[in-house]
Amino acid sequence: MKFNVATEAEVLSAQNSDVYFQRSLSFLKNKKFNDDVIAEVTVSSFENPWITFTGLDDVLTLLEGHVRELYAIPEGTIIPYRDYRGIPVPFLSIHGRYRDFGEHETSLLGFICQSSGISTLSSKVKIAAGEKPVYSFGIRRMNPFIAPMIDRAAYIGGADGVSGIKSGKILGLEPVGTMPHAISLLLGDEEAWKAVAAGTKKGPVTVLIDTYDDEKFAAIKAAKLLPNLDFIRLDTPASRRGNFASIIREVRWELDLRGHERVRIMVSGGLKEADIMELSEAGADAFGVGTSIASGKTVDFSMDIVQIANKPKTKKGKLSGAKHVLRCEECGLVEVLPVSRVDDQCQCGGKLKDIMVQYIKDGNIIKRERPADARARALDFLKKYYSKTSI
Ligand SMILES: [Zn+2]
Repeated sequence: MKFNVATEAEVLSAQNSDVYFQRSLSFLKNKKFNDDVIAEVTVSSFENPWITFTGLDDVLTLLEGHVRELYAIPEGTIIPYRDYRGIPVPFLSIHGRYRDFGEHETSLLGFICQSSGISTLSSKVKIAAGEKPVYSFGIRRMNPFIAPMIDRAAYIGGADGVSGIKSGKILGLEPVGTMPHAISLLLGDEEAWKAVAAGTKKGPVTVLIDTYDDEKFAAIKAAKLLPNLDFIRLDTPASRRGNFASIIREVRWELDLRGHERVRIMVSGGLKEADIMELSEAGADAFGVGTSIASGKTVDFSMDIVQIANKPKTKKGKLSGAKHVLRCEECGLVEVLPVSRVDDQCQCGGKLKDIMVQYIKDGNIIKRERPADARARALDFLKKYYSKTSI
């Protein structure tokens, strides 16, 4: 490997982990420590009170054969990281011999910490955009080796499409793309627009209109030139951001006045959640969001042993014993209980349901989620429990 990244084999064999896990395991092996443990993964802190959970699929690949049982919150679940009493929610419950899986902690956490941060940001952007489509355009800001992970997390979190070719293959989606400024620079606007309109076989015809001219006049020109035009895209840089909403209102007005109501407006270029609501109200119809989703702040997940040889045991500051997570189907309330306790009645009168699912049994993966199903789950949660007030 010439690039400065780890190989799949190095990740799977824990050669990419923090060295102290490897050292600790050698101590345990010397002592022939063989007891069964349960380890749980919880969130210590995060800037947002809820998390759109993703990254589990890679954890399953990592841990297959190393753990006996694994229970987890399904990907795409949107959930507060503490229950209504403030008890930390276990996202994963791992059963097995510590010496068989302990050294994988670094990669295990890395898979879910970064991915869940991105999917949470994607959900927040989706809340801001409402029914209007959001596209993940951020892979160019990140290491290319993790581009598919970024797009997958963005998609599950709520993004309607992604720009990466490989990401599209993994997700079973046609990747979304418009045109770079370079084509207008090389061919001139009109030739470039005609080439895009003729060359778009799938998806909407979208042209970039802010390479040379004022956005209003370029939009009118493009709408007149291309009868099959679906979107004009404004990739307005931050230098004009103070006027961005006004530019959108002006473009919309002038297009409508000339009978081009069907031409919609896509915006991109350094958009943040706060911009999206304002630009949506001004008349933007679709959003290409790059850096702000792709760099979604990492969630601080951590893993702790909570039970050893069937006895509750953990470090100070953590709650011992195996737990499960119940959620009310009516109001969304979350309750964490010891596995030995069952509660099926919520305060609201609704029914509480155990939401942890078994993914590894006797060392083998018994279930994987399709990204489209995880995304449908996330959208369902957004619709039911999260609105613009929860951003
Ligand atoms: Zn309830």
